[in-house]
Formats: sequence, structure tokens, C-alpha cells
Amino acid sequence: MTKAPQTSAPKTSQSLPRRAEVPREQTWNLDKLFSGFEAWEKAFAQLPEESTLEREVESKYKGKLAGQPTLVADLFATRHTLRRRLMNLYVYAGLRNAEDVADAVSTNAQARIHARYATLMAPFAFVEPELLAAPQLQEWARAKPPSPLAPYTFELSELLREKEHVLGESEEKLLAKISPVFAQFGTIHSKWNNVDLKFPDAIDAGGAHHMLTHGRYGLLTVSPDRALRKSAWENLHAETAKSRSTVAANFHAHLLSGSLLAKARNYEGFRHSQLAPDDIPTSVYDTLVDTVRANLSTLQASLDVRREALGIDTVFPYDRRVSLHAQSHPRHFTFSEACALILESLSPLGEEYVALARSGLLEQAWVDWAENEGKRSGAFSWGTYDSNPVIHMTWTGTLDNVFTLAHELGHSMHTFLSNRAQPYHLASYTIFVAEVASTLNEALLADHILTREPTTELGKEVLSQTLEGFEGTVLRQVLFATFERDAAAKVDEAIPLGPDEFDALFLALNKEWYGAEGGGLPLVAHEWMRIPHFYSTFYVYKYATSYCASAALLEALKENPTAARGRVMGLLQAGGSKPPMDILRDAGVDFSTPAPVERAFQTYKRNVDRARAVFVDTRHS
Ligand SMILES: [Zn+2]
Repeated sequence: MTKAPQTSAPKTSQSLPRRAEVPREQTWNLDKLFSGFEAWEKAFAQLPEESTLEREVESKYKGKLAGQPTLVADLFATRHTLRRRLMNLYVYAGLRNAEDVADAVSTNAQARIHARYATLMAPFAFVEPELLAAPQLQEWARAKPPSPLAPYTFELSELLREKEHVLGESEEKLLAKISPVFAQFGTIHSKWNNVDLKFPDAIDAGGAHHMLTHGRYGLLTVSPDRALRKSAWENLHAETAKSRSTVAANFHAHLLSGSLLAKARNYEGFRHSQLAPDDIPTSVYDTLVDTVRANLSTLQASLDVRREALGIDTVFPYDRRVSLHAQSHPRHFTFSEACALILESLSPLGEEYVALARSGLLEQAWVDWAENEGKRSGAFSWGTYDSNPVIHMTWTGTLDNVFTLAHELGHSMHTFLSNRAQPYHLASYTIFVAEVASTLNEALLADHILTREPTTELGKEVLSQTLEGFEGTVLRQVLFATFERDAAAKVDEAIPLGPDEFDALFLALNKEWYGAEGGGLPLVAHEWMRIPHFYSTFYVYKYATSYCASAALLEALKENPTAARGRVMGLLQAGGSKPPMDILRDAGVDFSTPAPVERAFQTYKRNVDRARAVFVDTRHS
């Protein structure tokens, strides 16, 4: 679960220590996995040979599963045990490589386990098709003890859900052969976006040139220099627009292939086929869009605050991300100061949660926060069923670092609690719930700071960041999700779409969200072209649901901590034991209703009011 790398200027590599020189207390402890690469090599050497495994699996299980529940349970256990061993090897190599990406030993180990993982899982490829063909699948999916399949009913019922969308054997084989082609539209977009597309320099108020790349764009658009922000935004989108016919044809092809495949598999359309794996009804998506649309007046109120706070006439796209609170000396946090602040903020989750988090952060060395040469950028939480969860990040002492640590700690605690409560095969959770645990910790941290010190430098910075977070994660992503839904629906209805249609759709949504003036600049129409997430189809709405779910949980924790705490702990311990909608509903977040999104808007509205008091009213008093 990565977060965007920090925007602070990176130190030059000359000034950084080598990995071996880094103090041990700044590094993670991976001993629970392996004591070192010597132990790793030993475990790697004990993996089965591919040909032996294939022979064994085929002779014991293949073609024999129908009517044999004990054999199916045995097969599941065999596959889980092997996958668990492989994951320990895989994750250890990956973690060691993240410490120093140039390290030859871990790079080599990573490549070897990556290849081995694929070859050792390949002999099991027959399992799902054979189970889908077994006449007893429905009965097995409802198995009760003492049936040997009782522990696996969730896995089996998930498989059963797919059954009506699986085609005949020869059709499936053909689709499997040609399926790599369907992923090419995203690759084509990425090649254009990241390789071919080049931008003219952005120019600041003093006439100085600034190199404009995708990587630097984010930094330029938060610059206090409005001329520079405007120039960066205009140059990027004017250049993008030059490829509009090609990019529109590619996006249309992507939507068309998805739509045709979905229909061939008996789905209602492309969106339905993409929401089905998480068992999310399309009505959840529609309710999200409708509820955000019904609450757009709060965005207008926030834009008014922004307009007045920045002293500008209209908030244009290049004015939306700049901080409302320009700080000359941002506060520096040490790692232990950050841990103390985060642990304080998590107290609504209860003593047990805080004690476990404290132990992970300060005693069991979950976090690798050293800054060293070759360390992978960005942040993530990872681990296996047999390890501690661990957090990778680089500490430079910014407020952004503090929030990143809170976010990744949310993932780690979710992993820790699910692993503790669930058997191996039900412990891993889906993305749909994963980002709830992490963004809840961020929301608790922001709320803690905003309640304790609303008018300090830190409080003001957090307030600005919190507003921008909701606007970027919920409002903006739901605009994208609406565009994606409406474009795909047209293609499902066999209406061909070209650049004019895509542009018009995107521009209309921007005017609806940001107002005719602020959202209506002609270049806005082309912004959709450069969004890579449209090729991770129907994904962006999950950013919004996760964020709303955590905001709804925050509201619940503020209203009735004791009741809400138990529900949140239930969510964190559920792993992947139930469909994600059920896990969230049990936690009090029911996405079949508008309630979670409406509650998130309550928090947002409260923060807009705070921002007006802090950034606008004080200027006039
Ligand atoms: Zn995350």
C-alpha cells in the first residue's frame, strides 16, 4: 500500500549513509522471517522441484475432485502450505531489496523466488476449472462441520459466484491465450504518457524557466507563485491535447474490449464485470455518485473560503492544491515525537489497539525509517502470515512523514489483528477494506490535532491538508468515477465515442463540480486524457468509499466511542473472511445506503467552517 513519495527535496546521494552504516534502531527487525540470506537459501533449497510437484499434484488430485470433499480439503491445505512458504521467501527478498535496491544479493534472490513462485503455482491451474465443473460445488459451499470442507466455505462460495460467468473449456482456453492483448491499452497509454509526451518549461512570475515533467508537476502546482502554477497546468494540458484523437481512440478501444468481454461472460456491462470480484453491487457506485452530487454545495463553500483566503477572484484548477497556510518554517518531527503524537491520536480505538501499536513501533521494530543510499522511495506496509507486519519509509521529519507513518501503521495493525484472528486462508483482506484501516488512522490524527490546537501553525497546516485530502480523494475521484461510468455505459450501448464526446463529458462534470467559471476553462476538457487510473478500470471509486468509510467511523467514534470501538476492531480482525460489503456493514458502514457518504460530508463541512474561521474571518477582524 504505497503512498506518494514526499515532496520535500531529496538529499543528494553523497550525503547519505550506506545501508550498512545506518544505526540499527532505525531499521526493521525481520528475524521472524529469516535471520539472514543464509537461512533464506536453506529454505529456498527445500522447496519442491517443479516436475516432482507437478507429478504428485496430478497423480493425487487431477480429474479426481468431483464427489471427493476430503480430497478437495487436502488439496486446499497442500496449496496453502506451499503458498505460505513461498510468500515468506518472496516477501523477505522484497523487503531486503527495498532497503537498498542496488544490492546484488537481494536483487538476485528476488528474481529467483519470483520465477519459482510462478512455476510452483502452475501445477494447480486445473483446480478452479475442475471445481467449477464439480456437480457438488453448491453443496460444498454450504458445508458444515464435521465436513472437511467446512473451513473453506467462503472460498468455495466465492468460486460459485463466478460460475455463471465462466464459459466452456475451449472458449476459456482461447480467452486465456489472447487475454494479454486486453491489457495493452493501459500499456499504450503509459508509453505515450511517460515516454513520448514532453512538456515545455513552466515559467514563474519572475520569468524564470522550470523544467516540467510528470514528477515535477505536483510540486509546481502547490507553488505559492500563481503564475508558475498556471503556466505548469496550461503547458501540461495544452501539450496533452495535441494527442487527443489517438488517446481517445485508445481509451475507446479499452472500454470496448472490456464491454465485449463482459457481455461474453454474461455480465450486464463492463462496470458490472469489474465490481463483481469484490461482490460490490453497481448500486453502491451509483449511490456514491448521487450522494456526492447532492452535497456539492459544500465544495462550493470550500472554494469560497479558498478564494478569499488566497485573495483571488476565481479558483481555477491550478489553485486547488496550494496550501491555505503558507508556512515559512514548517515544524520538524523526530521519529519518536511522531510515534508519541500518533499513539495519542489513536486512543479512541482503545487501550489494546494502542498498546499493540506502541509495541510494534517502539519495541518490535516494525518500522524501517532510516534514510540511506539506495533505499526505495515511497512508503508501504508489508509482511506475511508468519512475520510481523513491517513498514518501509524514509524519515525526513515532515508533517507528511507523520501522516504517512499513521497511514502505514493502520495497514500494519489491520494485518496484525487479522492474522491473529483468522486462519491463514481467510486472513488477507481486499483493497476495498484495506484503505479504510489506513485512512481511519490519518483521520484520527488530523482530528486529534485539529481539536487540540486548531489555531497553531501545525493546526492550520493540518486543516488545509485535511480539506485538500477530502477534495482530492472523494470529490475529485468521484468526478473521475462518474466520467468512467458514463463513458463505459455509452460504449456498452454500442455508442462510439471520440475525442469530442470524451471532452464534452469531462468538461460538463467539471463545471458541475467546480462551477461554470472555475471548472470551465477550455483546457479542462482534456484533463481526463492523462489519468492512468482509467486503465485500472473502475478502481478510483474505491478511494472515495474507503475515505468515506473511515470518515464515517471517525464520526461514530466521536459520538459513541465504546460501541464504535468494538465494531472497528471487528473490521480489523475480519481479514478476508467475508465479502467486503458485509465486513463494513458489520462495522456500521452500510454502503447500500447514502449514510456513510453523508457522514463523511458532515466532517468535511465541519472542516470548511473551521477553515473559514481560521483563514478568512481572522483576516477581517
Ligand atoms: Zn494505503
